[in-house]
Amino acid sequence: MLICGQGIANYVQDLNESQLCNNLIETMFLRILTANLFSLKPAFRKFLRRQALLSAFVAIIPINSAFAAQGGKSELSALTFKMAGDDLRSRIVVMFDNEPNVETHLLERPHRLVIDLPETSFGFDKESLTPRGLISEVRYGLIAQTRSRLILNAKGPFKVEKLEVVKNESSSGYRMVADIVASSDREFAQALADQKVTTASLNADTGGASPAISDTLGSSHQFTVMIDPGHGGIDSGAESVSGTLEKNVTLAFGRELRDELMKNKNINVLMTREDDTFLRLGERVRLARQHEADLFISLHADTIRHKDIRGATVYTLSDKASDDVARAMAERENNSDASAGIYSEEAPVVHDILMELTQRETHSFSLNFADGLVKSLQGKVNLINNPHRFAGFQVLRAPDVPSVLVEIGYLSNKDDEKLLKDASWRKRAVERISHAVDKYYTLRNNVQAQP
Ligand SMILES: [Zn+2]
Repeated sequence: MLICGQGIANYVQDLNESQLCNNLIETMFLRILTANLFSLKPAFRKFLRRQALLSAFVAIIPINSAFAAQGGKSELSALTFKMAGDDLRSRIVVMFDNEPNVETHLLERPHRLVIDLPETSFGFDKESLTPRGLISEVRYGLIAQTRSRLILNAKGPFKVEKLEVVKNESSSGYRMVADIVASSDREFAQALADQKVTTASLNADTGGASPAISDTLGSSHQFTVMIDPGHGGIDSGAESVSGTLEKNVTLAFGRELRDELMKNKNINVLMTREDDTFLRLGERVRLARQHEADLFISLHADTIRHKDIRGATVYTLSDKASDDVARAMAERENNSDASAGIYSEEAPVVHDILMELTQRETHSFSLNFADGLVKSLQGKVNLINNPHRFAGFQVLRAPDVPSVLVEIGYLSNKDDEKLLKDASWRKRAVERISHAVDKYYTLRNNVQAQP
């Protein structure tokens, strides 16, 4: 079999989108038919090229078999494939016996990184290809007599932070290391545009700058709030004595908050989930970054051991918890996708420093919104004592998106549960949150308007 993985249609699509590959297949296909075809008119050759794509498998297989029968052997072997990371950042390491000549490009719908290699025999362990982190699918195979291809599908837009081939220090062979980081739709579109310019200037020296996608999309970027209804699907979250599930409370409240926020035409409102689906914590953060959210509001209604504790609480991120309640709450929330398995990867030091610098600004915006939110709720919605608390919530860890987690009430408290089910109370609560968002929007707008 020439291609590993599933979906011939998908594979043909991958072929279709690569000019290089088109040309190779075209050449091959034409060679198989007859040399005289080269004298045909361009329109007919274009038709043949389409047919060649559709017949790619038919065309390639006999050649390869014949090649193998003649005792042909790839010069290059890809020995192992390893992947580590989470929804925001993944590292891929491929071991080769010889130095590979690697060419890469990006494809969209779905977001893919295509790695072209000379003809390669792949010895990957199937288990190692199991999707994880940012990578949702891995496929590879021979695409022409002398070309092989490795395709990494990602869960969303990404950028290739690093891709290098290095000689192994303590053993023979080489390794290709690729660091892939979740990015925004705008950044991915820009990378695709840059790629087009590079390809064009390689084919013909057109010069010229890349289309200013970042400018056009950047200026049209609307202030975006990402509402994150906690839990969902197999993760029901907390449950009250009477059987009310947290995942349903947060979704209903999230929808009402969305409708209220949408009254401000300057604000674009998105939700991490709009139905009863399970989402990993990292995926929630990744979505906020994909859409370049200006504010992330995670909604919860947990249970707590002390049943008399009640009232809304606004949490922001901190490595040290402000108190025992906050610590317990963060531990509990961070556990919500432990069953899905989180793989971590040590990030480079420089990356950490840059992240920290960005986070400092992001964090001060998070604190600013949290303070404004508490003020807006005060006197209108029942609040816990010390309503602004801190803890190490994973879902608040987007380095560039100001984020808060709001416990709108506690399902362990009967009075809170009653309020959470009361439409008029919910209306008041979403109005107060919305009021705080409007004020925050004005503040951010003013900050950005300053020279
Ligand atoms: Zn929760």
